[in-house]
Amino acid sequence: MKDLSGTFRPAERIASLGVSEILQIGARASARKAAGHDVITLGAGEPDFDTPDHVKQAAWDAMQAGETKYTALTGTTALKDAIARKFSRENGISYASDEIIACTGAKQVIYNAMMATLDPGDEVIIPTPYWVTYSDIVELCGGIPVLVRCEADQGFRLTADQLRRAITDKTRWLMLNSPSNPSGAAYAAPDLCPLIDVLLENPQVWLMVDDMYEHILYDDFRHVTPAALCPSIAPRTLTINGVSKAFAMTGWRLGYAGGPADLISAMAIIQSQSTSCPSSITQAAAIAALDGPQDFLADRRDSFCQRRDLVVNRLNDTPGLSCRRPEGAFYAFAECNDLLGVQTPEGGVLTTDRALCNWLLETADVAVIPGSAFGLPGYFRISYAASIETLETALTRIEQACRQLSGI
Ligand code: PMP
Repeated sequence: MKDLSGTFRPAERIASLGVSEILQIGARASARKAAGHDVITLGAGEPDFDTPDHVKQAAWDAMQAGETKYTALTGTTALKDAIARKFSRENGISYASDEIIACTGAKQVIYNAMMATLDPGDEVIIPTPYWVTYSDIVELCGGIPVLVRCEADQGFRLTADQLRRAITDKTRWLMLNSPSNPSGAAYAAPDLCPLIDVLLENPQVWLMVDDMYEHILYDDFRHVTPAALCPSIAPRTLTINGVSKAFAMTGWRLGYAGGPADLISAMAIIQSQSTSCPSSITQAAAIAALDGPQDFLADRRDSFCQRRDLVVNRLNDTPGLSCRRPEGAFYAFAECNDLLGVQTPEGGVLTTDRALCNWLLETADVAVIPGSAFGLPGYFRISYAASIETLETALTRIEQACRQLSGI
């Protein structure tokens, strides 16, 4: 509807935020497709598998049984019990019912936590590259994201020295994501212990751990989560997870977290005045996902691993690109600095990773996301949640385009 009054004025808190670049690129790719181009989209962070049938059946059964009303604010007892069992069985952490919250996606978990704890000027340390929502939520809640660059040569992982240097009296949180979106890098116990030691020296800093991709790990890399690794950090750790990625349930909207009861109750206050409980039907489906068979996870992981190897090998064979082999998630984060500043066959010069990604979309019909969108310019992210055939075609197109740029 056209605003005829001329009085619309967005709040200052959204002045520096925009619609996620990932969504914008997705929209441009769709527009090209609609115009008849054969575009391959490797932008979205979404498994290409379907939600398992037993999960869908549980949702149907819940609807038939009339479970279609509001539930308890932080989730049904049955769901919280299933979440507690999951944390205990898979992660070795035990949480009581008042230490668990279920939300409308892990994104809402993070939003609730930051809304409930940040005052203006409070700082949150975010290792870079990061999932862009982290910094945007911090800003939305009046906090200051403190971005710490973690390049490929350090495995995209934050070091204890970097953490120590970033902490100030104003620091409230460190956000850690393993395996990471967008780099795929994961933290093993020897990477985590020194970071936890620094946190133990700085009691004002809490730890937000995003374990969303824990089931997508390769080469026998074992997931370890800080609250289990070091029980002394558990009283100020929020351990976040969800069903979106492991169970291919992105559209169902269910994330959850375990943490100290004081923090969980504060988060519940925010949830009570924004969305109330997560969908009752989704909660029933999530119980089936968490309690049901888990063996298909290994098949899906094997299939992702095959794709990872294909994508990383092909990227490293492409002139001007290099890509670290990620430990997990379904993203490859390729360095493209050697291709920046060179002339395109059309006569333009690509000076930034954003320009390169635009050019790839326009000339090679492949949509990928620039590293700048994740706080680290000079890279781009490929989501390899696509079939081997699609990936082969996309990588051939990328290679041909990059050969044109580098004149090889
Ligand atoms: N954490 C990470 C690292 C993610 O990549 C995503 C989804 N892109 C989420 C959390 C959010 O997941 P959801 O809100 O679907 O539960």
